[in-house]
Formats: sequence, structure tokens, C-alpha cells
Amino acid sequence: MPVPEPGHGQVLVRVGASTICGSDIRAIYREHLGVGAEAYRGVVAGHEPCGEIVAVGPGCRRFGAGDRVILYHIAGCGLCADCRAGYMISCTSPIRAAYGWQRDGGHAEYVLAEEATCVALPDELSFVDGACVACGFGTAYEALVRAAVSGRDAVLVTGVGPVGLAAGMLAKALGSPLVIGADVAAERLELALRLGCVDRTVAAGAGAAEQVRALTDGGCDVAVDCSGSAAGRLLGIEAARRWGRCVLVGEGGRFEVSASPQLIHNQLTVIGSWVTSIGRMDELARQLVRWRLHPEITVTHRFGLAEAAAAYAVADEGRSGKVALVMDA
Ligand SMILES: [Zn+2]
Ligand SMILES: [Zn+2]
Repeated sequence: MPVPEPGHGQVLVRVGASTICGSDIRAIYREHLGVGAEAYRGVVAGHEPCGEIVAVGPGCRRFGAGDRVILYHIAGCGLCADCRAGYMISCTSPIRAAYGWQRDGGHAEYVLAEEATCVALPDELSFVDGACVACGFGTAYEALVRAAVSGRDAVLVTGVGPVGLAAGMLAKALGSPLVIGADVAAERLELALRLGCVDRTVAAGAGAAEQVRALTDGGCDVAVDCSGSAAGRLLGIEAARRWGRCVLVGEGGRFEVSASPQLIHNQLTVIGSWVTSIGRMDELARQLVRWRLHPEITVTHRFGLAEAAAAYAVADEGRSGKVALVMDA
């Protein structure tokens, strides 16, 4: 790819790391199924870039050459209510463009970015840490903040792939005394436990909700679904205690509940949460330093840019932790 020239308000970022997301697999790699915000326009993929600014265009006011940045992966119109709240993910303007979907993303040596989408990467964090924050950890943090997770809450994470690992790690950082991971893949449960992202594991399937209720003295306070499967979402709803909160993060598909017994009579709050705001992403980057946490520990596979095909094949198997393209690797 030619090296782009930054225009007004734009920065040129030399990519340090660019991770692969479940969304890339679901909506681009297996088939190009997206419409609207998820429509893939044949651009350079990679919506989780992190790197160093090497050049800036005219009009840049905060960032300059040498600054290390995470890219919030959507450039919005900047003027609608969602953009003004920092949720460019929800911008519906025709000029909204996500890196790796509608404009060139991070799977390249350089990515051209809007200065307004840059988040400062603290010195203590690596490029791989930052790439993890750019989507997965940001999304997990948003879900936990929306559910107001604190030290009062036992948390169930259904689906402990990369976003589930993030949700577990951050729930513990927010004070949860008990984080339980559930998954159909035994390898992923073992990894979650080994990394310290969860305290206990439950094999998803028959009897899983009863096991969670037994571990939590009647039900978890918060359930976060990162599986995107009907079974994972239902497990969260069935394992939550009365007055519990359930956050849906994993994308795609459908699920069905019986309104009265499962939701209304259980006094449940169900929250749909899509990505995060740029302000929250900035907050998370700074919190990770205070918490001395490195999202990079969830990366189980690293590949150079030339090995991208192999990287996607590993991510597609659904048994790994996070898969990263690391440019200096
Ligand atoms: Zn992503
Ligand atoms: Zn907008």
C-alpha cells in the first residue's frame, strides 16, 4: 500500500500492533455480510490499531509526531448527539466510517487517521495493550460500567473468548470478589483461569445455570454475555439473581425468553451495549496503568503482517485468546 499523506485534521500512524476481532471473523472473513455500520467496503482490514504518529496534517491541535496512540475505530460526523457524547459507534451520518470497514484500517504499515479518533497510549502500555483496548477491552469496560459493577457483585461472563477475558479481568479490577467464566470450549476456560481473568469456571450446557447459582448463593448479580449465542445469553438470564443485571455484548443471532417468568418476575435489567465512547476508552487506558494491568496477557498468538492469513485462520478456530498482528514481529 502507498504511504498516505495526512490531510487537514489527520495524522499518519505507523502501526505497532493491530489485533483481530470476532467481528472481523463473523462479518468479513467468513463472508461479507455487513450492512450499514458493518458494511465492509473492501478496504485494508483491522479496526483495532495502535501505533505511533509519524506525521500530522494541518490543523492538528493536540497530537504530534512521536505520540503513541490508540485509535477509537470509528470516525463520526462529530456533530450529531451520539458523536457529541463520544459514541461515534452510533453515528448514523453517511460520512461515518470505521477503520477496517469503510476506510483503511490497521493491517498495514501505516494508517491514516482523524486526530479526533486518537486516544493517548500511556507510556506504561505497549502497542499490543493499546490494540486490545481499541475495541475488545473498551467494549468489555463499557458493559461493566453500564451494569455498574462493583465489589458488591458476583459476575458471570458467558463466552470467554478475547472479549470475555477482558470482561473478567476488568470486573476483578472493579472489585468483583467472584468472577465465573462459562464457555463451551474447555481450552478457553483453562486459559481464562490460568490468566486470572476468572475465579471459577463452568462448562456451558445442561446444569450450568444451577452450578452458577450454587457458586453464588442463589444467582450472579451481573451476567455479561460475550458469546453472541442464544445459549450464552439464556445462561446469563437464567443464572442471574432477582434484581440482577444482564448485559448483552456478543453480537449476532437471536434469542427467545419467556417475558414473565424470566425477565419480569425476576426484576431483571437487560442492557444492550455496543462498543464504547472515546471518552470511556481514554479513561480505561489511564485506569489500566493505575491497576497495573496489561491486556496484552490475553494475546495468545502473534504474527507479522505477512502472516495475516495464518493469523485469521487461528482466530477463526475460536479456541485461542486474542490474535495480534505485530508489525515489528
Ligand atoms: Zn473489534
Ligand atoms: Zn455523528
